[in-house]
Amino acid sequence: MKKMLYLLIIIIVVLVIILLIRGMRPANQSLEQKAVTKTENPVILLMIDSLMDEPLRKAIKEGRAPAFKYLIEHGHYYSNMVSSYPTMSVTIDSSILTGTYSNKHRVPGLVWYDEKEKRLVNYGSAREEVFKLGVKNVIEDNLYHLNHSHLSRDVKTIHEVLAMEGAQSASINALVYRGNEEKTLNLSKALSKLDMMPESLKIKTPLLFSYGALAQFSPKNNQNTQPWERLGFNDKFSAHELIYLIENGKLPAFTIAYFPDLDKNVHKDGPMNHIDAIEKTDRQLQEVFKTYGSWDEALDSATWIVMGDSGQAKVGEDKSQSLIHLNKMLDSYKIHKITEPVKKDDQIVIAYNERMAFIYNLDQNIELEEIVKTLQKDDRMNLIAWKNGSDVHVATSGQKEKLTFRPNGDFNDKYGQSWLIRGEYSVLDLSVNNFQIEYGTYPDALARLYTSLHSHSGNYIIVDAKPGFEFAGDGTPVHPGGAAHGSIHKQDSLIPMIVTGTDTKPKHMRVVDLYPWILKLLNKSG
Ligand SMILES: [Zn+2]
Repeated sequence: MKKMLYLLIIIIVVLVIILLIRGMRPANQSLEQKAVTKTENPVILLMIDSLMDEPLRKAIKEGRAPAFKYLIEHGHYYSNMVSSYPTMSVTIDSSILTGTYSNKHRVPGLVWYDEKEKRLVNYGSAREEVFKLGVKNVIEDNLYHLNHSHLSRDVKTIHEVLAMEGAQSASINALVYRGNEEKTLNLSKALSKLDMMPESLKIKTPLLFSYGALAQFSPKNNQNTQPWERLGFNDKFSAHELIYLIENGKLPAFTIAYFPDLDKNVHKDGPMNHIDAIEKTDRQLQEVFKTYGSWDEALDSATWIVMGDSGQAKVGEDKSQSLIHLNKMLDSYKIHKITEPVKKDDQIVIAYNERMAFIYNLDQNIELEEIVKTLQKDDRMNLIAWKNGSDVHVATSGQKEKLTFRPNGDFNDKYGQSWLIRGEYSVLDLSVNNFQIEYGTYPDALARLYTSLHSHSGNYIIVDAKPGFEFAGDGTPVHPGGAAHGSIHKQDSLIPMIVTGTDTKPKHMRVVDLYPWILKLLNKSG
């Protein structure tokens, strides 16, 4: 009965959206009015959601990814770039655009609990969950709060730095985009009357801003913004917008274009069975290169950075095993119901980020360690982490000893970070020799865990699932037989990056190290 009701709501909303999209054409923007200064060597960053090294190599070997192959042969290929944590797009994009982890940029994950407002923030994880949290909240979180209240003002995005230094930039379909230009997004009168979304939003964007059906340049894209095409959040739309900028001589110093399609296929078909989808993405790259006349010309005309944002790990087919139901494990506590506001007597709130979750303890009478002990009983947990003062503790299932660490100590890692560590190193698969820390299964684990535990206020635990498993809550997206991400494991965390047009590279192979390098490529200091 409940399911039928949701289905009915979904059908009604889709119909309303179709009607509205038809009348929402003013989202077309004129490129002519934009005074774009021609740049000698523009940088174009193509973000291919969930692009991974092994399947990419396989696609190339089978002759199904000629554009990727061409880029690699004419540039540099880095196969093991370390992503941000949790390995969810909004957090990673925020790291790329600001050069910081989440303790500085303050976008903790796709879903997290805002202690001050006493509510779950969700930038749009799944249709069902979205309906449970309320469409209006999710739209506002995604379209407004993500960029304008959550993404910290203490950090500057690449777009903001460039604007301050007199350079221009473009953002195509990226969820994180904050820039210096005021822009009004006209949403919908009808839906605002139904109190489902605000009528319009004032946002700050780079000079050139494309955002699905809500902001587009290319008239060709009118056909790529239908509700069943995710309102323009698709590869075709992104490619057309980029092509339109190139064709009209309006490519700014820096462009970031987001290609979302591949992620969907990896989730559905698993980490190695999505070669068809890579082939499709490759075709979009070919379309873009074609604009230049020849592929050589394309590479001569710009510095290209083509990269993934996170990997994905397999999720077992057998739901009874592969899905970890945290609410069942913690059912001796009173857990917040997603359909309701957080209540006074709620003891636990859970924010699901696929293979990672934040567990918030709202009850001062409960010790975090008590919850940790319950979680530890399940051997599907990769790790469980929490903080106590400036110490971070990490435990795992099947191991009594824990690891404790904090920044600034005698131990150094290859990223130039120093740590004080004690306890059982194997919990985080660390090898330590002469005070030098080497990471194994969990790349840059100390910094990524530490920053995630300091990304927002609250008394919370991080849980992270082993490959093969994912967390499942009420209405959260699940992928049995497919794949998911979110965790700190190398399968979720390592991404490939192809760079052409320069022999320089970031100081370290981590997404947080891209920012100073990109600014340097553009001769800007930041
Ligand atoms: Zn995904």
